[in-house]
Amino acid sequence: MQTERKKIIVLGGGYAGLSTAVLLSRSGKFQVTLVDSRERFLNQIHLHKTVSEPIDHFQIPYTELADRFDFQFLPGKIDTASLDLAKLETTGRIRVMSEELPFDYLAICTGARARSHDSGHHIYTLDYLKEHGGEGIVSEAMVTREHTTITVIGGGATGIQFLFELHDFLRKKSGRFKFQIVQMDDRLVPGMPRAFHNYTMKRLKDRGIECYLSTRFIEAANNQLKLEGPDGSSEISSDLTLMLSGVEPVPELLRCNVYGQLLLNGRPSNRIFAAGDCSVYEGSGLNSFTAQTAVRKGRTIASNIEALDANKPMSRYKYQELGYFLSLGPWDGIGWIVFPFNTIAGPPAFAIKEAIEMQFQFFLKGLDTYIDWLS
Ligand SMILES: Cc1cc2nc3c(=O)[nH]c(=O)nc-3n(C[C@H](O)[C@H](O)[C@H](O)COP(=O)(O)OP(=O)(O)OC[C@H]3O[C@@H](n4cnc5c(N)ncnc54)[C@H](O)[C@@H]3O)c2cc1C
Repeated sequence: MQTERKKIIVLGGGYAGLSTAVLLSRSGKFQVTLVDSRERFLNQIHLHKTVSEPIDHFQIPYTELADRFDFQFLPGKIDTASLDLAKLETTGRIRVMSEELPFDYLAICTGARARSHDSGHHIYTLDYLKEHGGEGIVSEAMVTREHTTITVIGGGATGIQFLFELHDFLRKKSGRFKFQIVQMDDRLVPGMPRAFHNYTMKRLKDRGIECYLSTRFIEAANNQLKLEGPDGSSEISSDLTLMLSGVEPVPELLRCNVYGQLLLNGRPSNRIFAAGDCSVYEGSGLNSFTAQTAVRKGRTIASNIEALDANKPMSRYKYQELGYFLSLGPWDGIGWIVFPFNTIAGPPAFAIKEAIEMQFQFFLKGLDTYIDWLS
């Protein structure tokens, strides 16, 4: 007699959630349901490329992935603000839209959302870009007045990548654009080796892009941005503004043990796991907000759910990054490999970044080239 397969619900189909769902369904032991508020997986690490390519080049319908990997896809937005984790643990049921779904294991992989929701005329937020891509910015830039000033708020990886992509694309069309970037920190891409800042500053200078460091964006009104910098308040003009000032975890930063099990009042849950940007793990494994980390955490919890279910020992999350790369427009970039002091710049950095990112595309085609760091 065939026994019924255990039910797994994965909330969020980004890098972490998809890794979890694909690996668990591939094991053949579970009935996996992936829930996401979007209809399509967005390969968001390429989002800056939507300045010159349609966003559809970087999206795959979840229904297509569900067919390919034999899981169920349920479109639906989870009300994360009222998610009662302790109740989920005791009831083993979760509400998705109007349905109450039972689960044996739950994987929370809801990622992070934009910190800034400042919107308005001529202001583009991360939410907008994730929905429509960068084509709208280009169209608006092309139809506006003689001289157009474009400002990026946020000098992290996302802001920098968008700035260079947009600059290089628009400058090819016309010389009437002026670009500027506002960064709260005293350096660009904080958290990365100093060489990232130095190289990026050099590239900004080469392109004549103004950079306001240690400067906080306060508000926007009538094409004027109010800023607070080292010399006090100031205002700058901006015809188009991209708000890319960072993200925060959804529903919050969920504390987990070294196996990815959610900690509830300090005790590990036996059926709820978390992975990706919404999670922080105990131990020495990396907790950065990157796609590489999200994939590795997703892989860890997939393996550990399987182990826990089979009464086998779970594996500790031990992933350490071997490199990080940033693109500065087509065919330029900066990154480090093996050791943070070992930086590479220019076209080789760009090429390595592309190669690293191909791995997840291969994975979604069914070719798993990841080497796991599990014990
Ligand atoms: C523009 C941009 C560029 C980036 N570039 C890089 C890069 O070059 N390299 C790099 O390593 N990292 C990069 N990152 C960071 C990287 O994308 C994240 O670290 C990674 O996406 C985290 O994966 P995740 O699975 O935790 O979350 P996500 O990939 O964000 O996935 C979360 C999923 O959960 C769904 N979800 C959220 N809330 C709900 C809800 N309430 N109900 C239902 N579904 C929900 C979302 O729709 C989404 O599909 C970039 C991020 C951005 C925004």
